[in-house]
Amino acid sequence: MKLPFSLPLSAMLLAAGLSASEHHEVHWDYDAHGPAHWCDFSAVCKDGKAQSPIDIRTAETVSIAPNHIIKLQENVEAKSRIVDNGHAIQVDVENGGKISVEGIDYRLIQFHFHGRSEEKIDGKQYDLVAHMVHKSDSGNLLVVGVLFEEGDKANAILETVIQGVGTNGVINPGKLLPEHSDHYYHFMGSLTTPPCTENVRWYVMKEAQSATKEQIEAMRRFYDHNYRPIQPLNGRIVESI
Ligand SMILES: [Zn+2]
Repeated sequence: MKLPFSLPLSAMLLAAGLSASEHHEVHWDYDAHGPAHWCDFSAVCKDGKAQSPIDIRTAETVSIAPNHIIKLQENVEAKSRIVDNGHAIQVDVENGGKISVEGIDYRLIQFHFHGRSEEKIDGKQYDLVAHMVHKSDSGNLLVVGVLFEEGDKANAILETVIQGVGTNGVINPGKLLPEHSDHYYHFMGSLTTPPCTENVRWYVMKEAQSATKEQIEAMRRFYDHNYRPIQPLNGRIVESI
């Protein structure tokens, strides 16, 4: 929707049936204010040339540049708060470990789940995805994607999250990572939600984690279709290790 800037805010809110105390900003979602309308919140969602998610075409990947290899240091007991942020189930962490690349440390600030994977591999959508959002001291972002596939083995950290929404506790974010966390795809992309900020370093783990049918269904009871459609690659190179 286009904002009628000529109207005072209170009139706008009244017209939308909202009171000023309820809503201070226009909200985005995956329905009426879904991905096709996100440009109303941030132009880069529509005009950006390096948006996420992407479909990773494995035959077109190149070997990773040595300076893009990450050092994961997330095997820590972190203070956590599991919340429903209105778009996804999210775990906010304190001292959640870090990832180092090109001499810069990116600290884990939160991880959250999408009810189906946003990124695809050779056109395949996975059953769930976790995004581990990291931030450097200067505000640059790095996201690690961990794909989940239905299997016999329940995932312990997923279970903790499903059972613990609304609670505080201690969590080891490193347990979210697959055993072979030294194999991944890397590319430059964006946040997959408004404001769709670009220059985000993406790392998508190649090895998917197993989650049971019950766990996938439990996660989808919170959010089922909170995934953004695939965005054009626009000549971006995807690296692989
Ligand atoms: Zn995400």
